[in-house]
Amino acid sequence: MSEFTHTEFFEMDKQHFIHPYTDFSTFQDEGSQVISHSEGVYVTDTEGKPYLDGIAGLWCVNIGHGRREMAEAISNQVTTMEYYNPFGHSTNKPAAQLAAKLAELSPGNLNHVFYGCGGSVANDTAVRLAHYYFNMKGLHSKKKIISRCDGYHGSTYLAAALTGIQGTKYGFDAADNLVEYISAANMYRRPVGAEDLTEAQYCDFLIDEFENHILQLGPDNVAAFIAEPIMGAGGVLVAPAGYHKRMYDTCKKYDMLFIADEVVTAFGRLGAMVASEELYGYTPDMLCMAKGLTSGYIPLGATMLSDEIYQVISKPQCEGGLLSHGFTYSGHPVACAAALKNIEIMEQEKLCEHVQEVGPYFFEQAQKLADLPIVGDVRGSHFMVGIELVSNKAEKSRFPVTAGIGQRVFKHCQERGVIVRPVGDVIVLSPPLVMTRDQTDILFNALYESIAAVTQELGLG
Ligand code: PMP
Repeated sequence: MSEFTHTEFFEMDKQHFIHPYTDFSTFQDEGSQVISHSEGVYVTDTEGKPYLDGIAGLWCVNIGHGRREMAEAISNQVTTMEYYNPFGHSTNKPAAQLAAKLAELSPGNLNHVFYGCGGSVANDTAVRLAHYYFNMKGLHSKKKIISRCDGYHGSTYLAAALTGIQGTKYGFDAADNLVEYISAANMYRRPVGAEDLTEAQYCDFLIDEFENHILQLGPDNVAAFIAEPIMGAGGVLVAPAGYHKRMYDTCKKYDMLFIADEVVTAFGRLGAMVASEELYGYTPDMLCMAKGLTSGYIPLGATMLSDEIYQVISKPQCEGGLLSHGFTYSGHPVACAAALKNIEIMEQEKLCEHVQEVGPYFFEQAQKLADLPIVGDVRGSHFMVGIELVSNKAEKSRFPVTAGIGQRVFKHCQERGVIVRPVGDVIVLSPPLVMTRDQTDILFNALYESIAAVTQELGLG
């Protein structure tokens, strides 16, 4: 591929590659930055400029970029057996071994895995199998899925419907009759009536809202609740203490399944291989993983299912016979071999312990940004942080969307050789888990200077 120049890549991309989540108005003029090399916590563009990657690719390159061991594991599997179908009674060694490993890593009796190709598909599978599970139990009316405003669950038709971020809906249709939305657990921006509540009272408020919503729909019509432990793309929203466990208990009260979307949080981002039980004290009925499962080296997603669900869906059925769900690439041997190596690296290098140690320092440095006049809120945990920019701190006023403040901070960081991710006016950070204290300092110095520069440009400094 090296026969092409930077400009040729740039043009081919601009003319033919429809990028996900891209603003075409600016894209047509500016085109894209072509990233060509990567190593550790750095990526380099085709012009040779290195950047400290503050977002691990896209919440995923947990073990760091450019690991030779991953290349070897992938190459070995390709030369041994690159692909054979996983349907019916056929399997392959890495898929079987990884299934056992994921059962070992997952809490409670989440002992069974359905493989897909990413996070959206893991969530799709969870919903399809939730319906199938209740149908097999003769509970045919249990269909509604309760999700949350500002939750992000992906971009297939069904995962997009589960997603509660208003800005992602424009111009698209959705499976409106299937999904119900309740409030985000957003400590910073609360709904009317909840502004002055203590954290514990706000938690009661959210639980009451959930329970009332179930009762209004009728528990016989509700199949499941889906939630991220910390909402990621919705702006890194951390729920009040005790929230997840109480939401889980409410699900159990009404015979609903709890689907934990751990696409971002699993594999160490918060210092645990799986966050739900270790950090939040509940064991979901289904648990969706992707991203950190292979550290993004190869696409792979997984939906873990409890023994109870497995027993129901695997009972020989009198009609139809098969569980008619699956993908050509379910349990792809190369992806599963990559996941096994990735998990081995995480364990050998004790990356969860590393995040437990450096994560609090990372968060502390983030909190120092709160001195700046346009930083309204700093939130998150360990290597998952959101910084919300506002025009007036006391009023929590948002900047006009057209001002593109998040994007301006991103550009300033880029000039300083650091990549952050603007989600509207929330700056999201999710670095590779191998990030050190020194690299943390480099990142936050650049971010501090960048936000300060934008503050000055706005005349607010
Ligand atoms: N769930 C969550 C919590 C996510 O953050 C994402 C992706 N950012 C997805 C699901 C969708 O994953 P994918 O893009 O791999 O389909």
